[in-house]
Amino acid sequence: MRYISTRGQAPALSFEEVVLTGMASDGGLYVPETIPALGHDELAAMAGLSYAEIAFRVMQPYVNGEIDDDTFRGIVEEAYATFSHDAVVPLNQLDANHFLLELFHGPTLAFKDVALQLLGRILDHFLQKRGERAVIMGATSGDTGSAAIEGCRHCDNLDIFILHPHNRVSEVQRRQMTTVLADNVFNVAIEGNFDDAQAMVKASFADQGFLDGTRLVAVNSINWARIMAQVVYYVASAVALGAPHRAVSFCVPSANFGNVFAGYIAKRMGLPVEQFIIATNANDILHRTLAANDFSKQELKATLAPSMDIVVSSNFERLLFEAYGRDGDAVRALLERFQHEPTALADAPLARLRESFASHSVDDATILEVIREAHHRTQEILDPHTATGYRAAERARADATTPVITLATAHPAKFAEAVVKAGFPGVPLPPHMDDLLEREERYTVLPAELSAVQAFVAENRR
Ligand SMILES: *Cc1c(COP(=O)(O)O)cnc(C)c1O
Repeated sequence: MRYISTRGQAPALSFEEVVLTGMASDGGLYVPETIPALGHDELAAMAGLSYAEIAFRVMQPYVNGEIDDDTFRGIVEEAYATFSHDAVVPLNQLDANHFLLELFHGPTLAFKDVALQLLGRILDHFLQKRGERAVIMGATSGDTGSAAIEGCRHCDNLDIFILHPHNRVSEVQRRQMTTVLADNVFNVAIEGNFDDAQAMVKASFADQGFLDGTRLVAVNSINWARIMAQVVYYVASAVALGAPHRAVSFCVPSANFGNVFAGYIAKRMGLPVEQFIIATNANDILHRTLAANDFSKQELKATLAPSMDIVVSSNFERLLFEAYGRDGDAVRALLERFQHEPTALADAPLARLRESFASHSVDDATILEVIREAHHRTQEILDPHTATGYRAAERARADATTPVITLATAHPAKFAEAVVKAGFPGVPLPPHMDDLLEREERYTVLPAELSAVQAFVAENRR
């Protein structure tokens, strides 16, 4: 198995290289050259297996023997032992045919833990083998930073620097990052906004001279290993509901499209999926593209579901590559045009997408209404991201007899603002986190100056 770029001009890479590389040198994203098949019998044999065992079986072909089976099994077991629920990602039945897949039982209470608990360990394994060290840099306005820190805190060969805008993330989100006191974890509060922090991270990737040759690694959702890890819960949940003998549909609260793209890969591997429903908040580029063929950027809107606030869905490029018949030149031309002006997909690729995907967009007022309505009907308090999914599943499902699984991407305690606005007293943090507000914090405040940030990273990396 090799990995190729969606823009057709970068060299093909091994699994190890693709995990360490991030974006391709031609500006594209890496995808597997062939998608491995999960046959009917292999799926049937997964019934009743542990999540870690299903994870091992689903991911093993992508790892391509580059980590030996026993070691990889150990990595997978360790990654998912950090989850507080024995099922790792339990299904919760809401009504006769609508299920929630609870992806929020990891260390930071959001679905990004599923991928980042694994990615940190895989990176550490490859670096150890090579006798190298690496630095991770990222900017965060919330979820990704804490999940990356939790995924890397035990990694001997990695130092992680996460920049957040000073005084502009919620206290719970800041504390999830700053109370991790490991020697290799560095939180930097930038005296500026999220865009300032992100611009400094981008500039550091573009010119890595300040690190004297140490590798800089990205753990954002363009890293293939994150997609690979997410394929697993589509398979595990569908099997739990009767696949391969019965098809299911999925509804996915979406932003950068990494999560739902993983579902699409599961389908391409052989999982019987009738429909994917993409839920967006008011930042609705995915919905506009699918429903109206309006593939254009619009200004960022701050919503009650902040982890879905995006202008561009970076992983959508991976789906476009498939829709355009893996024509890297066509994808490159489309995305170069998209950078500068509103554009549209060609008819045939759009028709192909509409065979598998439906979409629905949910504004802030509706998010509050859905949190109340879902509670009234099911006694569940949904987080605002999951609320977009709950509504989209009901509005956009093609067939009420096929079970629909809505992905619950965050725990409601993490997004108390929306829950309180919806009229509830708030949701307590789970027991293993209930002293979060008393824990010791450690972070460094720096001006929004590239030279100051790079000097800090260069001095503190081990
Ligand atoms: C990141 C995130 C999303 C969006 O996932 P994508 O893979 O970017 O589409 C949705 N909900 C929550 C809570 C998130 O943290």
